[in-house]
This record gives sequence, structure tokens and C-alpha cells, in this order.
Amino acid sequence: MPEPSSPAPLRGIGVSPGAAAGPVLWVGEVPTLPAPTVVPDPVAEADRAVAALATVVTELGRRADRAREQTVADVLRAQAMMADDPVLADSLRAEVAAGQDAPHAIDTAFAGYRAVFEAAGGYLAERVADLDDLRDRAIAVCLGRPMPGVPSPGHPYVLAARDLAPADTVDLDPEQVVALVTEVGGPTSHTAILARALELPAVVGCADLRDLTEGTTVLVDGTTGLVESGLDAPTLAARVSAAARAADVGAVSGPGRTTDGHPVALLANVGSAREVPATGNAEGVGLFRTELLFLDRTREPGPDEQTAAYREVFSRMGGRRVVIRTLDAGADKPLPFLHQAPEPNPALGVRGLRVARRQPAVLRTQLEAIARAANDTGADVWVMAPMVATRAEAAGFAEAVRAAGLPKAGVMVEVPAAALRAAQLLEVVDFLSIGTNDLSQYTFAADRHSGDLAELLDPWQPALLRLIADAAAAGRAAGKPVGVCGEAAADPLLAPVLAGLGVTSLSMSGPALRPVRAALAERTFAECERLAKLALDADDPRHARTLVGAA
Ligand code: PEP
Ligand code: MG
Repeated sequence: MPEPSSPAPLRGIGVSPGAAAGPVLWVGEVPTLPAPTVVPDPVAEADRAVAALATVVTELGRRADRAREQTVADVLRAQAMMADDPVLADSLRAEVAAGQDAPHAIDTAFAGYRAVFEAAGGYLAERVADLDDLRDRAIAVCLGRPMPGVPSPGHPYVLAARDLAPADTVDLDPEQVVALVTEVGGPTSHTAILARALELPAVVGCADLRDLTEGTTVLVDGTTGLVESGLDAPTLAARVSAAARAADVGAVSGPGRTTDGHPVALLANVGSAREVPATGNAEGVGLFRTELLFLDRTREPGPDEQTAAYREVFSRMGGRRVVIRTLDAGADKPLPFLHQAPEPNPALGVRGLRVARRQPAVLRTQLEAIARAANDTGADVWVMAPMVATRAEAAGFAEAVRAAGLPKAGVMVEVPAAALRAAQLLEVVDFLSIGTNDLSQYTFAADRHSGDLAELLDPWQPALLRLIADAAAAGRAAGKPVGVCGEAAADPLLAPVLAGLGVTSLSMSGPALRPVRAALAERTFAECERLAKLALDADDPRHARTLVGAA
């Protein structure tokens, strides 16, 4: 509990379970140059500019010393050497002598260097991004701001950011960063996916995060979505270890089931054979995103290459179920070899199964390759199509799957039309898999990558839960499986709700399996059904979480 005098907790969306405490440090943003100022003392001003650069050199050296990989250390040292060049210091002094203040002198001196590097071409031209980074760091120091990028203070801390992009996190050190908190972002944001992969507690969409002063010690609870400050040291320690005990679910093993044995298959999402080891004791693969194998291809991968890639995953799963999805190309995952015409609104355009309307041979080749790989390995292969909206599309796909000699055909429910007509889809396919990432996007008309719309994309939205409930009910009536394979499946608090709605499997990234398995094992199926009703009847996601959390 917060201390009587402690500030109210900040609320966001818990997207990666567990709790951790530490001082909040912000990702440094790239500084913008303020208006130029008059320089009363050029000598002191030049010293200020040169000292800023020296601070950058020292900081890069410290990061290189702590880097876990030699290549990272080498890159950081090379960058530090560029900043340590006496010629650069001389040009800074010259710019200040010509009347510029320190930040503008740094900007101009680096612009000169940059032009030389660009003109040289080749290796040097490729280093201009390093120069830009040095410039931004030195200007930030001059302005008294944190250097851009992920801090590396040499002690554990909670990383705070507006949002995190993949590029921000390449040198994130999981030994220093104990939790992630962002102002925007939703359960399918990059921050959420990264946090789950690194098994870091994370809260996203924490709108009031800026209210916390840099350095304030907070407790981040990635299960409840709360960020609390003002707790004393013993309380913090007790809360973190209680969360660790809750997360220590190693004792729960085996197939997913409720206390009274109602089965909910726990499956893993993968993009290639490399990810199979991380699936641990999953009961199978619930979503094999085949398009991720071929994102950089300008020519269609041939049948043999495809067969080999699928065979690798099938054989590594050793007879367990593998739900393989045919290419989900378009929108955020364009495949160059499909030569798709540009579209004004790609998320609503020719993507997923729709590509097969114009290029049926691509689907045929893929299904034949899947069938060959399935035969070679004897795997339990289920095949499903992305972005299906109608029964006719589902029937056409199922026919193509069976023509290839594959026994199990299904479709993803990512478009509200598919959820509304789940019963009709199940007349022609063997199973459904609900892709909550896209189903949220299309139900709420909210771009799934938009941090500003995170609340609409929250999987606890009662409208989304209603669509899931209806699709699951159709599955129950037809006696066919209906699973969830979007990021919603990875939320341990939501798992009993989804089970109670009638979902028969949950598929997620490897690290999420243990907490989800434990959450299911704590409830009877009747309790799950009660929680599902509470969530469905709630006014909004926050209310739904609170009701279910309290129950
Ligand atoms: C989904 O939309 O929920 C899904 C699982 O597919 P993807 O994230 O690959 O679009
Ligand atoms: Mg999708």
C-alpha cells in the first residue's frame, strides 16, 4: 500500500508482468537549438563548448567499458575518438570567436565535419549518423539536458520515455534497466513487445508520467499498470519480493488448464526456427508468422527454400501442433517481391489473404511448400489465412488448403466482419484464431501503431471482448477451436477472462507463457466465466481491469 502521505499512483496499462523499483531516468530526447544568445565572454564560452565535447568523450568511454559485447565497445570507442579530435576542438573555438554561443558553435563545427565526411563518400559517409549523434550529445550537455538515447548511469533504474522505438533500445542494458514506463503506447507497441522479450516489468500509456521528477524512486507494477512513488525502502523491498513470488510460477507446469482441469492450450508465437527454443514448454506454435522470413526479398522465395524453412520449424516442434499462417503481406509488412501497387490507405488495402485475389500462384506455392514440409516431418500442421472478412473468402482458402493435401484449414479473426460472422466462417473452416492486434485496430478505427490512441487499442475494451465472446460462442456451438493469438493473449490478468469467454487456446511470445499458465491454474472455469462477465459488463478498460483485479 502507498504510505499515507505518498502521492497518488500514476496509472497506465500493464503490459509485461512483475514489479521492480528504481529511480526514474528519462530517455534523452534530441535537443532543439534555442535562439542564439549574445556571448559576453568568448573565452569562457569556448571552454564551455570544448568541455561539453569532453563530457561526451568520457561518457562514451564509460559506456564502452561497460558494453557486454566487444563489437558494441569498439563502435563506442571509435565514436569517442571522433569527438576527441583536437581539430574539432579548434573549430569550436573558432566558431565561438566568430560570435556564436556554445550550442550554435557545436552545431556549425559539426556541420563542417559532416560535409567533409559526406563528400568523401564510402565508409566516412556512413559515419555521418555518428557525427550527428555526437553533436546532439554535446548540445544536450551544453543545455544541461540528458544526452539523447537510453541512459547508462552504471546503476539500476527505471527507464522512462514518451515511447520507445526499436532504434532507441539497441544498447539497452537489461542489467541496468529494471522496468520500462512510457507516456504513450499500447499493448501491441514496440515497448510492450520488447519488455516481454526481456522479461522486464512494463507500464505503457502512463499519461501523467512527466509529473515525476527525474531521479524519483518508483515502484513499477507491470501487472496492475500502477507506477507508485513515495514508498519507503522496506515497503518497496516487500512489494518487489511479493511480486517476484507471484511471478515465480515455475511450480506450475504442463498444459494450460484451470484449477478444475478445463483445458486452454498454451501456444507460442514465432517468426522463424530461431525463436523455437524460446517457446519453452508451450503445447505448440499458435502463430507462425511466415512473412517475417521473407521481408527483405525482392524475388519470390522458391518452393524448395520455403519447404526447408517450414520444415525446420515443424521438426523442431517435435510433433506438437504448429499453426502456420500464410503470408500476411501489406500495410506494415510489405513484401517487396509481391510488387504491390502503392495504396493511399494500405491498412485497409490489399493485404493478407487479399493478395491472393491478384496473385493466386503465390498462395498455391506456399501451401504446396507447407504440405511438403508437413509430410516430411509428420507434424500436426494447421494452416490459417490472415485478414479474412467473409465466408466466401474463408471457403476459398479452405478449398485451396485441402487441395494442397493439408487437413486443417482455419482463418484469423482480425476484421470485425469476421467476428460478427464467426458461425458462418466455422461452417467452412476447422478453426478460428483471433488476432486481437488487428481486431482492435479495425474495431476502433485506430492505427495499431499509434501511441496516442493506446486507450482505444487496449485489449480490455469491452467492445473487443464482446467480439471475442461472440466468436468463441460460435466455436463452442460448432464444436471447433477458437483461439487468441494477438498480444492480448500474453496478459496474465486477462487470460482467465479470455478462458471464461470460451477461448480454447492462447498464443503468445515465449516469456509470457509461465505467468499466463499460472494465472489460469489459480481459477476454476466457473470463476473464469464470472470474471469474463465482469469484464464484458464494465464501462471501459480501466473499470474492467479494476473489477477483475479486485475479484
Ligand atoms: C494480430 O493481428 O493480432 C496478429 C496476431 O497478427 P499480426 O500481429 O502479425 O498482424
Ligand atoms: Mg494481424
